[in-house]
Amino acid sequence: MLDVLALYRIQELELDIIDRSKRIKSINSQMEEDDALREAEAQFATAGAEYEDAAKQAADMTAEIAALVEKRAAAETRLYSGEVSNPKELQDMQMETEALARRKTVLDEELLRLNGLRDERKQQLDESEAALNAAQEEHGDQNRELLAEKEALTKTVTDMLARRKGAIKEIPPDMFKIYNGMRTPKSNRPIAVLNENACTICGIEQNHTVIIAINRKEGMVNCQNCGRILIRMQ
Ligand SMILES: [Zn+2]
Repeated sequence: MLDVLALYRIQELELDIIDRSKRIKSINSQMEEDDALREAEAQFATAGAEYEDAAKQAADMTAEIAALVEKRAAAETRLYSGEVSNPKELQDMQMETEALARRKTVLDEELLRLNGLRDERKQQLDESEAALNAAQEEHGDQNRELLAEKEALTKTVTDMLARRKGAIKEIPPDMFKIYNGMRTPKSNRPIAVLNENACTICGIEQNHTVIIAINRKEGMVNCQNCGRILIRMQ
């Protein structure tokens, strides 16, 4: 009976170790996945790409306008140089410089719009960068707390495993072998406490023979229903 009680203490220790190990596992996955951080990273990446795109469009337009200005200046230089005297040709040149001037007005307006878009996206990029920094900071704080909890749990589990090892040595090997073999089929609970002559795990009341055997406190007595090793605590 004393051995069964010692086994029962081992079972309690094992169940505690299992709970703590589950928590360690959940901390590991929590530390890996942080939805808020992932979202902030994705938004920052999108804002970055959108800003790059707008900045390139504005730069391309600026270059196009510069080329146009150059072309117009060259055309005007030629127009007023006196090199051309043919009236038809002069008229064509005049029309071309005018067309270039009109085109520049259109492009200037487009540049204004593109610069506005670029500035707007720059602001969005700055905002998403600030949000990302905040999310990273929060993630760091959370991780520090989780890490501290995990370290404490790991230490406790290590101590408990050592205690379990020591406790097993006190149990007759044959008995521990039976207990250990029942762990998996009995969901880590090979031992059940008897409460008012009923097994507390399956709830079945035990017959007279079983009760007498338990009361004699000799060896291991199994629940007549679930087969667990029964123990009377009081
Ligand atoms: Zn039972």
